[in-house]
Amino acid sequence: SLAPHLRSVVEEIAYEMRQRSDRGTVARYIPELARVDPQGFGLVVIDADGTIAAAGDSETPFSIQSVSKVFTLTLALGMVGDALWKRVGREPSGSPFNSIVQLEREQGVPRNPFINAGAIAVTDVILSGHQPREALGEILRFMQALANDPTIAIDEAVAASEKRTGFRNVALANYMKSFGVVENPVDYTLGVYFHHCAISMSCRQLATAGRFLAHSGRNPATGLSVIPPERARRINAVMLTCGHYDGSGEFAYRVGLPGKSGVGGGILAIAPGRASIAVWSPGLDESGNSHLGRIALESLTKRMGWSIFGA
Ligand code: GLN
Repeated sequence: SLAPHLRSVVEEIAYEMRQRSDRGTVARYIPELARVDPQGFGLVVIDADGTIAAAGDSETPFSIQSVSKVFTLTLALGMVGDALWKRVGREPSGSPFNSIVQLEREQGVPRNPFINAGAIAVTDVILSGHQPREALGEILRFMQALANDPTIAIDEAVAASEKRTGFRNVALANYMKSFGVVENPVDYTLGVYFHHCAISMSCRQLATAGRFLAHSGRNPATGLSVIPPERARRINAVMLTCGHYDGSGEFAYRVGLPGKSGVGGGILAIAPGRASIAVWSPGLDESGNSHLGRIALESLTKRMGWSIFGA
């Protein structure tokens, strides 16, 4: 069994990360996130057998922010199938997560579902035909079911903080609304978006929730199929090419796994067939991705030989 080796690798990485003084910078544009202690670090790996290797603050809930976009994409594809791709593209943007520039050239259709504009468009799809409260309940219940944990909740202080200060997202949503890409009232769509970004989860909960993406759409814990294999493969492809915004190329180069980051400092990474991995360290790099989170994943894939591009 690989379990003892995996456990010691995970513990060594957490130890090494604790020694480092370069931690990046905690997101400040959402006031509630600026209060998070930059010293936090958690790492959880769950392999195909269900072995859990955990180190550091693996049980500490953090704001998952844009990591939620993987799960809203999964839900929206389940609701409307490939028709989703009329509302959002699937090309890397090469632009920051909150950029507006490409929307004008592309008739309000966002480049991909992981930049803010794209995720807002995806949220709008989930919202159509529902009340905001129902749509949000659907997203939250999906997370709880995947993580097998009904205690997962939204941090209302974070949601309110972002609602007060999310001027850029308001601009993106209104701009898309002018092209008809957002169909619902802008404040409804943004309300659901801000709240799903404000879901709090620990590394353990997040790694558990991501397992279906590592195992062809099936959650090995329950044996239940969440999505068809082809869809899991495609979501992983979009995570690889777009999951870290304008840092996606660097993430593929260094880590070599599909991954999705959030400005709360979390990253969900998928080693297809092998493992679901969640890492958290609140300090960010210039692209808004967890600085030590990326370094820890780079070390993990190197030591385990898990890069999808070969050992
Ligand atoms: N809620 C954040 C925002 O809209 C999410 C950004 C992120 O995690 N990259 O700005």
